[in-house]
Amino acid sequence: MKGFAMLKIGQVGWIEKSGLDCGPMDAICKPLALAPCTSDIHTVYSGAIGEREYLILGHEAVGEIVEVGHLVKDFKVGDRVMVSAITPNWNSVEAQNGFAMHAGGMLNGWQFSNVKDGVFSEYFHVNDADANLALLPEGMDLGAACMISDMVPTGFHGAELADIQFGDNVAVIGIGPVGLMAVAAAAIRGAANIYAVGSRPNCVSLAEEFGATAVVNYRHGDIVHQIFEKTHGQGLDKIIIAGGDNDTFDQAVRLLKPGGIIANVNYLGEGDYIKIPRSEWGCGMAHKRIVGGLMPGGRLRSEKLARLIETNRIQPEKLITHKFYGLASIEQAFLLMKDKPTDLIKPVVLLNN
Ligand code: NDP
Ligand code: ZN
Repeated sequence: MKGFAMLKIGQVGWIEKSGLDCGPMDAICKPLALAPCTSDIHTVYSGAIGEREYLILGHEAVGEIVEVGHLVKDFKVGDRVMVSAITPNWNSVEAQNGFAMHAGGMLNGWQFSNVKDGVFSEYFHVNDADANLALLPEGMDLGAACMISDMVPTGFHGAELADIQFGDNVAVIGIGPVGLMAVAAAAIRGAANIYAVGSRPNCVSLAEEFGATAVVNYRHGDIVHQIFEKTHGQGLDKIIIAGGDNDTFDQAVRLLKPGGIIANVNYLGEGDYIKIPRSEWGCGMAHKRIVGGLMPGGRLRSEKLARLIETNRIQPEKLITHKFYGLASIEQAFLLMKDKPTDLIKPVVLLNN
């Protein structure tokens, strides 16, 4: 089978691999919709998780099942399914501890395009199919369903990690597709003011549509100064980081109230350390919590997030600015993600199966 792969750090290309092995609890799918992720770009071009050779990329997909293992209970050949980007082993002590995404080692629930071949292929393998797949709801837009793989759950995880409560004043730093879904999640959880930090005009207008009450452009000066101007110097309750760089933590700590939470879902691709300003961190005593997490995967979560689409509480299809058709065009979509033209939020590839 043909797949679009990372050949080594900094290099991508098409490769051929032999057929996939479907274990008793697994499924083999063919893709119906695919999307490249900013994480694929960090992996290939920053070498963020180290060297990977001839590894098929991609972890965002909607698929159709072509084979199931004999122990799979709830799915059958021909089912159209939402596929989570994170596909943990749910039969693990880490899952019992509430952190299935780290089952078998830190970040190991991130299987596709990390520890095994990803979804940019004629066929892909899903471990623990009953726990990691969810039926595609009847009539759901394939692009929206593809955003359930990663963009929606990651943005929503930012809001969960930040433990947003009604009435909170919140900043979302970074309003690419992940940050935009974090804005939507913060609004659903009842945040009062939501300060969205970004610059691309279509991201800005979507942030406002999804619930941002003010937008701050980091290219126009220090965001700490800009946000404090709007809050009259009052610190924020919660901050979600979905973009920026290692210095963003410094800004977030300065912006946060004592007792507040910084929740990072950004994939830090470069550098050895992040910065925490000692004095603004209360010399270590300010109860300013910093948490960061890989999105949890799982069927229940995909089903619940899909319900939010069905009830029109979120509209992730609005993230999709570029549509492509056919597996071969994944290369074009991927390169678009690398170049990030200003009119791009998220590309999707639809396959005519
Ligand atoms: P994008 O690149 O589309 O968005 C990044 C955002 O950050 C943009 O709004 C950008 O602004 C903004 N930004 C860039 N530099 C700065 C800065 N210095 N200060 C403040 N804001 C800045 O990324 P995605 O939305 O696709 O993904 C966000 C991150 O989430 C990525 O690192 C991705 O790898 C990661 N990720 C993490 C997952 C997880 O499980 N934790 C899962 C999926 C993705 P501008 O408008 O100028 O572009
Ligand atoms: Zn991703």
